[in-house]
Amino acid sequence: MIDCIICGQSFDPEKLPESPEAQVGILLAQERFNDEGRVCGECLISRGRLAMMYDCQFRR
Ligand SMILES: [Zn+2]
Repeated sequence: MIDCIICGQSFDPEKLPESPEAQVGILLAQERFNDEGRVCGECLISRGRLAMMYDCQFRR
């Protein structure tokens, strides 16, 4: 288990959610924030959801 660098909650980086929001969050972690594997599923989801709302690159 790893402690999330954002909220401090421990999580399993092998078991991240598969929702579209989480996928965008993972992409951002890889390409923008460079913290993949250190942020929990819930934080990835909120990051992904914000990006989908405010970042044209991720709008569908
Ligand atoms: Zn978190």
